[in-house]
Amino acid sequence: MLLPVNNKEKALIKVSKEDAFSICKVLVMEVYDVVIIGAGHNALVCAAYLLKAGYSVLLLEKQASPGGGATTEELMPEAAPGFKFNPCAMNHLFIFLGPVIQELELTKYGLEYLYCDPVVFCPHPDGKYFLAHRSVEKTCAEIARYSDRDAQKYAEYVDFWQRFVRAVIPFFNAPPKSIVDAAGNYDLKKLQDLFSLLGGPNQTLDLMRTLFNSPIDNINEYFDSEFLKAPLARLSAELSSPPSQKAMSFGAMMMTMRHEPGMARPRGGTGALVAALVKLVQSEGGVILTEQDVKQVLVDDGRAVGVRVAGGKEYLARKGVISSVDAKRLFLQLMDTSDVDAADSNLRERLERRIVNNNETILKIDCALSEPLRFEHHEHKDEYLIGSILIADSVNHVEQAHSEITVGKIPDADPSMYLVMPTALDPSMAPEGKHTLWIEFFAPYQIAGKEGSGLKGTGWTDELKHQVADRVLDKLAQYSPNLKHSIIARHVESPAELGERLGSYKGNYYHIDMTLEQMLCFRPLPELANYKTPIENLFLTGAGTHPGGSISGMPGRNCAHIFLQEQQTLKETIKDARNALKATVQSVFGRDSD
Ligand SMILES: Cc1cc2nc3c(=O)[nH]c(=O)nc-3n(C[C@H](O)[C@H](O)[C@H](O)COP(=O)(O)OP(=O)(O)OC[C@H]3O[C@@H](n4cnc5c(N)ncnc54)[C@H](O)[C@@H]3O)c2cc1C
Repeated sequence: MLLPVNNKEKALIKVSKEDAFSICKVLVMEVYDVVIIGAGHNALVCAAYLLKAGYSVLLLEKQASPGGGATTEELMPEAAPGFKFNPCAMNHLFIFLGPVIQELELTKYGLEYLYCDPVVFCPHPDGKYFLAHRSVEKTCAEIARYSDRDAQKYAEYVDFWQRFVRAVIPFFNAPPKSIVDAAGNYDLKKLQDLFSLLGGPNQTLDLMRTLFNSPIDNINEYFDSEFLKAPLARLSAELSSPPSQKAMSFGAMMMTMRHEPGMARPRGGTGALVAALVKLVQSEGGVILTEQDVKQVLVDDGRAVGVRVAGGKEYLARKGVISSVDAKRLFLQLMDTSDVDAADSNLRERLERRIVNNNETILKIDCALSEPLRFEHHEHKDEYLIGSILIADSVNHVEQAHSEITVGKIPDADPSMYLVMPTALDPSMAPEGKHTLWIEFFAPYQIAGKEGSGLKGTGWTDELKHQVADRVLDKLAQYSPNLKHSIIARHVESPAELGERLGSYKGNYYHIDMTLEQMLCFRPLPELANYKTPIENLFLTGAGTHPGGSISGMPGRNCAHIFLQEQQTLKETIKDARNALKATVQSVFGRDSD
């Protein structure tokens, strides 16, 4: 192993692998069992499980504070002191499909969730509106004001997709290639849901046919009314592709999960989840260092042994390096090409060319408001302001909002958007009587025809981002005319700035697109899908791994599971698998498998 004796002089001595780690201790180099790149919520979840299993863990975060896409910040301390914003994630859904909150006892560390009800409000240009409550029944009653048939169909739509979600939960909470782990997550109810979807051969084929459909094919199969189809299309497309994209019908989950398990926000903002995880990690002896931009993974003899950060400092890892940075950036930017090629000579080309990125990211607008929004053309009620508010005038409106992006156009002629007024649910996020506004507007990372100009050559400039924000706010003001005079201050972040802040590939908020061919055991590529890589002791976690982006903690938990399995003997692994299957058999048949 080549061991740096003095960072400045870069002198190297050759020592045996066995002696290297002990010499490092003498030289007071920092050595941990595990070094994790990044300290977003998935990295923190992963760290927590490893610490609880008795390993020492260091997390290195390039930003000044941990959290990544899950922070809460005073974005405008001078213009709007006391107003707290979530610059990224707002609504939490997926985290309730897994056991992270309970297993890590996050409520003990201060985490408290506030559930939204109603969950969605979408005003329509003709004066109709879609108001979804957490209760499916109440939602159907709202729809029945305009269409009895669609109300009845809505109950069927939700029932189908809820059974689908329950049937796939065991897969979400297991490494995608570990069938035994997934099987061990099934209980009687989940198996019943799975079999109710599969049924006989024709029903199974029909399920597959549905999964090959686009969200809009599926929505058209159920509904007639545009006021309902448009918000369903908008939410399906939250998985980062147009509603017409084939094989994305499962985007329907984004609405049906709002009914069950429900949609919630941590009291105090999304950053409260990270604050709880940080407290837990630190109380278990984990170390989090911020402003540590990892520049290189150190590989010795085909094995990851540590990382080097900007400035040259190295941190060594006895048992593993875990990257919450996606595979593309990890292997193409943070590693020596010779190390990658020695492990898999095709990998760099496959990462470069096979991973799909549809150019979609977000232009983010956050405003401090002197008064709440009022949807006066839609019989304003304060309850509209609790959940997700969608500006989605028609299915075509939503389609354009995504498809223009794929060809590098900014869809701001008639903006569609997703907004939240978090202070309606949690007044603690602004000074008394005041409010905050969170707007997500899908926009291209690379603007067509502007290659090489603006920030990072994307074409985005300060002037342009404010022009686009003006158009977005103009559109919103058509629905909520009091908006304009209520804005105390605003913060606009362009796609290029967002990409820089998160260190994400082309500003991709899910690290890589969430299209079907990049999900499950294809995420990010089949050969990297089980959190392991061809480099020994180098592991992957984060949104770029199964089951993907959003606030879930599942990639972090699943990766920790694989790391811990790797440390076990085969006998221990078989014993664990047997216990998991036993639990499933017990739940189904009410007796032991022996
Ligand atoms: C505007 C916006 C709105 C969103 N809204 C929602 C929502 O409402 N609900 C939802 O569920 N999800 C939402 N998301 C998605 C969600 O925020 C992300 O999918 C999620 O935060 C990913 O978590 P992660 O821990 O996997 O990665 P990240 O949060 O991206 O964390 C990765 C960390 O690694 C750090 N890092 C990167 N490179 C390096 C390096 N070289 N060295 C050291 N550290 C490095 C980054 O700074 C970051 O802290 C939104 C995202 C955006 C951008």
